[in-house]
Amino acid sequence: MILLLGGTAEARELADLLQSAGVRFVSSLAGRVARPRLPVGAVQIGGFGGVAGLRAYLAEQRVVAVIDATHPFAEGMSRNAAEACAADGIPLLRLERPGWSTVPGADAWHWVGDHDEAATTAASLGERPFLTVGRQALDRFVQPLQRHHALVRVVDPPSIVLPAAWTLIESRGPYPVEAERDVFATHGVDVLVTKDSGGSYTWAKMQVATEQIVPVVIVRRGDVTPGVPTVAVPARALAWVKNVVGG
Ligand code: NAP
Repeated sequence: MILLLGGTAEARELADLLQSAGVRFVSSLAGRVARPRLPVGAVQIGGFGGVAGLRAYLAEQRVVAVIDATHPFAEGMSRNAAEACAADGIPLLRLERPGWSTVPGADAWHWVGDHDEAATTAASLGERPFLTVGRQALDRFVQPLQRHHALVRVVDPPSIVLPAAWTLIESRGPYPVEAERDVFATHGVDVLVTKDSGGSYTWAKMQVATEQIVPVVIVRRGDVTPGVPTVAVPARALAWVKNVVGG
């Protein structure tokens, strides 16, 4: 059995490939969003209970290899997977889409190390920031942007009370460029705050910010699992799996 840690478009693509190749696998989702997009094949929803719980699961299910295809900012899960697999000698592959740091124009963005720095940087750059950092990080922005007219876009409702001056949009991408232009225009966005998620799925807002010369504050990825072999596309992960299971 292969364990595919998911929650990303790449993980769903890999599930398609594994299914077509007849590989036995289970996808795992954290269960954070109310209506997740489900991959094909078997799915288990909910955490394992830290490294100990994951190790128990790997043993019970006789997992022969793990693919960590979680989001680049799901750092806790990636760390746990690296620790559990190292402890039990289980092969681990990281499937991670490349970040945006090398795209043309990226050197003009305001690269920051974490959400706190993103919040103070955004506060100094504009009055109407557009926060596209996910709901879990929002608490870090509340104090620095208390008096700003922030626009927040999330998939599920935030668990904290947002300042009265903020506007909340609950929706799920992908967003076409035209729709992002409307969002920027309607809300007068004057600074975009995002994470280095990479990929094309959430790229349209970056394109619109560039077109409209709106400053971009972007949170850098951490290097959370150094030494874990990494591929950027699902087809490469399938090749790795075939190698591991001898297919
Ligand atoms: P996280 O902070 O790295 O993980 C926290 C805990 O959630 C983990 O220790 C684990 O709980 C559980 N968990 C996370 N991913 C899991 C998975 N694929 N399967 C089973 N349990 C999982 O994760 P996060 O940032 O909250 O992200 C949660 C999920 O959303 C991930 O699957 C990720 O791919 C997806 N996602 C995250 C982002 C983001 O920006 N962070 C964006 C898009 C999608 P236990 O310790 O109990 O095992």
